[in-house]
Amino acid sequence: MEESRKLICSRCQVEMTPAKAYFSYLDHSFHTDLLRCPRCGQVFIPEELVKGKMQEVEMALEDK
Ligand SMILES: [Zn+2]
Repeated sequence: MEESRKLICSRCQVEMTPAKAYFSYLDHSFHTDLLRCPRCGQVFIPEELVKGKMQEVEMALEDK
């Protein structure tokens, strides 16, 4: 993943900073890195990241 990807909070016009986030889906949970606004706390979750993770979980379930 590219570290240099910058994102600006549309509300505060400040640069979002990397943060750890915790998800759970279908009884599976995982941590991921995403960007968070240091001022208002809004998080940016790339859609492809969420979809990729969910696909991983679904594939893991099918293996059983
Ligand atoms: Zn903000």
